[in-house]
Amino acid sequence: MRSLAGSRALDRPLIRTMASARRQAAETIPSTPIRVLRTVDAVRKWRKPQYLDHRIVGLVPTMGALHEGHLSLIRAAARETHHVVVSIYVNPAQFGIKEDLASYPVTWETDCKILRELDRELADDGGNLGRISAVFAPTTSEMYPSGFPGQEVDSKGSFVVMTPISDVLEGGTRPTFFRGVATICMKLFNIVQPEKVYFGQKDVQQTVLIRKMVKDFMLPTEVIVGPTSREPDGLALSSRNVYLGERRRKVAPVLNRALQAAEAQYLNGAVDRESILKAANAVAVDTLNEQMTLAPEEGVKYEIDYISLADPSTMEELTEVDPKNGGIMSGAVKMLPVESPQPGEDLGHSGGPSVRLIDNIVLQPST
Ligand code: AMP
Repeated sequence: MRSLAGSRALDRPLIRTMASARRQAAETIPSTPIRVLRTVDAVRKWRKPQYLDHRIVGLVPTMGALHEGHLSLIRAAARETHHVVVSIYVNPAQFGIKEDLASYPVTWETDCKILRELDRELADDGGNLGRISAVFAPTTSEMYPSGFPGQEVDSKGSFVVMTPISDVLEGGTRPTFFRGVATICMKLFNIVQPEKVYFGQKDVQQTVLIRKMVKDFMLPTEVIVGPTSREPDGLALSSRNVYLGERRRKVAPVLNRALQAAEAQYLNGAVDRESILKAANAVAVDTLNEQMTLAPEEGVKYEIDYISLADPSTMEELTEVDPKNGGIMSGAVKMLPVESPQPGEDLGHSGGPSVRLIDNIVLQPST
């Protein structure tokens, strides 16, 4: 039989191993209580006691490169839920094969700093129900346990496919985008099991898709949509704005101005498609014509991908707005790389590739 002293000696390394395992499992963002969870298993272990304690969990899905738009959603989640989970994951399935996955800004250290500052702000604000409890930052092999199915339109794999909403507008230009979004959001909802999920109005078609997914697949979560955060000149905040560089940044608010012109028509009583869209197209085309008159080292060129007037609950095009329902004015423009870049010119992240900007304005129903 082993002596007691011998057994204690054997137990000691075991205790140390368990303690260091616990330390490892409790990775946090430095100087905060925010847990960093990297696996599905770790989220499930964290989540379980929240059920037993009847705590409400809110999820804010992001692809990182956090900005004020993301923070406004996290603030909303902290007001209404006990535990906010922010997911940071650049999902390759929602990028087309020719899109900017390789250069998409990944800013983990800065994101942690931003979350640390926000956590302090939330702690000082007595009006909140909760705080940021965890960041879920998984790898692709964690999110696609059977292997990543690929980015091609005809990739085979386990996808959530929703039609026809995935085929129009953003989906018209980016045929795999909404398949990727619906699939990753379904996975995130299944992992985190949030009572509430928070999305930004900036990506309006995405909000309609997610609401429909929750409805059609009977997901036990509530979808909350927060307003679009903007720069003072109206440009919608986006992680992709870093690609613009100074010259294109100055012209980028054109999309918002075009949508505002359409909204003004509606507020003046116009309900027919032609009058409303004409106002938006005029701003977009006139601004482009002005840019064309400039020297190549000054001008900016862009392509108008679409300007749409759609039904708020289906995103189907409208010929006339029913003021009882209102409508969604949305658009996408592709800012082309600048011509004749000047020595020392700020071209933007990754040398200033083409940047697709999207935006929308809700034509509010009359009460
Ligand atoms: P992303 O990281 O771009 O996938 O965005 C994550 C979430 O933040 C989505 O729900 C977006 O709609 C939302 N979001 C992005 N930009 C903005 C913005 N300017 N204002 C409000 N929400 C935004």
